[in-house]
Amino acid sequence: DAHHRVLIVGGGSAGISVAARLRRGGVGGIGLVEPSATHYYQPLWTLVGGGRADARTSARPQRSVLPRGVSWIRGRVESVDPARRTVGTADGRTLGYDRLVVCPGIQLDWDRVPGMAEALTAPHTSSNYSYELAPKTWELIRSMRSGTAVFTMPAGPIKCGGAPQKIAYLAADHWREEGVLRDIRVVLVLPTPGMFGVPVFAKELERVAARYGIEVRTNSELVEVDPDGRAAVVLDHASGTEESIRFDMMHAVPPQSAPDWLKATPLADPADPAGYVEIDKHTMRHVRHPEVFALGDAGSSPNSKTGAAIRKQAPVVARNVAESLAGTGALPASYDGYSSCPITTSRHRMLLAEFDYTLRPRPTFPLLDTTHERRDMWYLKRYGLPFLYWNLMLRGLA
Ligand code: FAD
Repeated sequence: DAHHRVLIVGGGSAGISVAARLRRGGVGGIGLVEPSATHYYQPLWTLVGGGRADARTSARPQRSVLPRGVSWIRGRVESVDPARRTVGTADGRTLGYDRLVVCPGIQLDWDRVPGMAEALTAPHTSSNYSYELAPKTWELIRSMRSGTAVFTMPAGPIKCGGAPQKIAYLAADHWREEGVLRDIRVVLVLPTPGMFGVPVFAKELERVAARYGIEVRTNSELVEVDPDGRAAVVLDHASGTEESIRFDMMHAVPPQSAPDWLKATPLADPADPAGYVEIDKHTMRHVRHPEVFALGDAGSSPNSKTGAAIRKQAPVVARNVAESLAGTGALPASYDGYSSCPITTSRHRMLLAEFDYTLRPRPTFPLLDTTHERRDMWYLKRYGLPFLYWNLMLRGLA
């Protein structure tokens, strides 16, 4: 059937959570467009790269997470016509909708840093941002006994802003346990002036980095990789100088932006080259097209892009979509920008950074001081959060 009451673009963390919530609210006629037969729990990839989890446990068949009563349209959306209320797929189908929920995730722009894509096919560079590559990160960490290790974070919004540094701490803690940390120079390249956007967590991370003797380069960016010479060219924006650092291993995180096809639709903010769907940051509805909603990594709301944010966005979108279908004219639910980042600071400890649009700490567990790294939080990350994800969040229960 080519027309749907609600059409959802993307069956990742956001799409499945919203579909499940809508079904629980009794909404019918839902279609979900998703090309991939596999659904991934990406937060586990940090632990895969750190040698603390098996990649296969992050993947499940798409069919197994699709809520009952939702029709799966296997395909890739590549255009949207909000005036006609249709989307077009790569294989030439046209699908109509009453309400559209856009959540195809973020695009990894590997080619924006010259040499990065090529370096990833060579033996000394990896990235936890890919399911295929995360196990290679652990191979590189495990086999390293001396030399220089470089960890990079790109400028601009990325999914899970903490992930580029989490892997540096997991690696350094492994080398410490192995007794080789003193023979390894660890360089962490960050585009930001501080280690985190929220001061209390930034301070804790400075302490963690200092404990491992990590050389932190703030205001800096990887601008080129020489895969053959194993050199990372790092630009320091503060001084305007470039330095070429020879490495024995590198963990690289690509720059990110909205998918190219999405940037080209009328849904994107014309003033923002990153091309996210231009939504109201509280109601999650499109600012120009009232039948369109968005959430997750592809939305323009200025929260930090995480699955944790989606856990709070999905109920808001589901409620507001249902209300808008009922035609009451009200959008009762509002998202406050909550996001959290579980930052692994060692192989047994974690710092749970939780905050909202005001960038003030917003703890879920008020009786625990989560502004410091804790051992109990490690268990939350390794076991609690995956359980929450598969069994509650994707089913619209949390
Ligand atoms: P995704 O989950 O990426 O899903 C997008 C879906 O859309 C995919 O299934 C894709 O196949 C589909 N799609 C793509 N293009 C199209 C198209 N054209 N048409 C139809 N469908 C399409 N978050 C946390 O909360 N905590 C963490 O600790 C954490 N750690 C992370 C570590 C790493 C290494 C990474 C990579 C991410 C991490 N995240 C973490 C972020 C989290 O995984 C994302 O924020 C979340 O998955 C975003 O959900 P989404 O639904 O917007 O996008």
